[in-house]
Amino acid sequence: MNYNLIQNNNDISIQVEKEYDLIIRKNNADITICKRKNNSCYCDINNANYSYSLNGQISAVDVNHSLANIRHIGFEITDSCNLDCVYCIYGKFYHNHDVRSNKKIDPKKAKLLIDYLVDKLDSSANISPKNEVFISFYGGEPLLNMKFIKDIVDYTQKIQNSHVLFKYMITTNAIYLKKHLDFIIKYSFIVTVSLDGSEKNDAYRNFQNGNPSFKIVYDTLKYIQKYHYDYFDSCLQINSVIHNLNNQQEIFSFIYHEFGKIPNFSMLNYTGVRSSMINDFNIMAHPKLEKMDNNINEEMNKILDLESNDIKKLQSFVFHYSGNVYENYNDLLINKGGVEHLPTSTCLPFSRRIFMTVNNKILPCERIGHEFALGEIENSRVNIDLENIAFKYNNYYNSIKSLCANCFYKMHCLMCMFDISNIGENPICERMADKQKFKEYLNDSMRILAKRSELYKRIMNEIILV
Ligand code: SF4
Ligand code: SF4
Repeated sequence: MNYNLIQNNNDISIQVEKEYDLIIRKNNADITICKRKNNSCYCDINNANYSYSLNGQISAVDVNHSLANIRHIGFEITDSCNLDCVYCIYGKFYHNHDVRSNKKIDPKKAKLLIDYLVDKLDSSANISPKNEVFISFYGGEPLLNMKFIKDIVDYTQKIQNSHVLFKYMITTNAIYLKKHLDFIIKYSFIVTVSLDGSEKNDAYRNFQNGNPSFKIVYDTLKYIQKYHYDYFDSCLQINSVIHNLNNQQEIFSFIYHEFGKIPNFSMLNYTGVRSSMINDFNIMAHPKLEKMDNNINEEMNKILDLESNDIKKLQSFVFHYSGNVYENYNDLLINKGGVEHLPTSTCLPFSRRIFMTVNNKILPCERIGHEFALGEIENSRVNIDLENIAFKYNNYYNSIKSLCANCFYKMHCLMCMFDISNIGENPICERMADKQKFKEYLNDSMRILAKRSELYKRIMNEIILV
């Protein structure tokens, strides 16, 4: 398929399929998007707010399908940590997690979950062409429970079969990484190290006695880079949190020049912040304002582009207006007007991963509040009630669909419903867009495309939406 982007006066024309072009036309403040076939427009999408049903529902069969095709199993293996990072989601700013009590995960229960999932993966409901399943270890600080990691690696190496090949991932503060490096390298763990930039940028990441952790982490990364370069190059990534002691440019400049790596950027999580702490949190969540060296900015924009925040927004625009995003096969095969969609962009339960907490709760991922648990591991069985999970999700969808129906972002919403206040009751979405806000979004997207038309082809070829 050929993707061409042509700019002509106020129009941008994108050839999205062999048979039609997409025309985005700007007329003063109005945006019109239409498909053109054989030189005539046949589908007007004025302001993109045409009828789009949000009455979709899920069933127990959908939940079972996700479990039988699972690719990622995460464990919170301890709630203890050797650091006391100021912005930690288990720290003073947040209320939506279980109380931390220096617990370790129960290996017997973790193995029950693995056995349950291997049975599902061995069933005929597994239609995935891939057989790799990642086991991820999270904390607290997961390297404080190395006994569990070794036990689970040993166990999964023994039970893997032709349907299931286990691989391993860990997210660590790297304080004990050097100590356990041989094991980590032996099993080719994908390691994500948390580091927020230079020593000044990283000053929220301290030990419990207030001493900075930066030097140990920096020296460990330098050691791996020097003595295990191939591993460092292919398996190690750095995650940096943006806050008021740094910004994207400073982080990029430090990590890229010191380690030759492009960091993953993450923002502080607004969900679950205590109302009494919201002012302090807002100050901390705001990136540092500093005029940057133009050369660094230029270098960063060149290297980061698909990862930058602006381009992430553009990705949604390009995919949704290029006729290449389908929520399901009905969406692909049936006329869009006749298909019922799910509100928000929340993944189907367990379609991305499953996560078990130190308190035996089962969640669809490690990011969301523990109050959204979908099951638990009991003494001798895994309690996952497929019907009940489908019922819960449908209830969440029902609670938000009338809000989303009036939102101009509804066709390409980026929100996870678990980040929306009061989901299941009277939800309030801070991203909801009226016509004006949506026009600004279209204008921004067109401005970027007009300036950098090569991004269209790169987004179509290099980005995969899941
Ligand atoms: S944050 Fe939401 S959309 Fe993302 S993996 Fe978790 S449940 Fe799914
Ligand atoms: S931005 Fe909010 S209101 Fe709009 S569609 Fe997404 S979840 Fe619904």
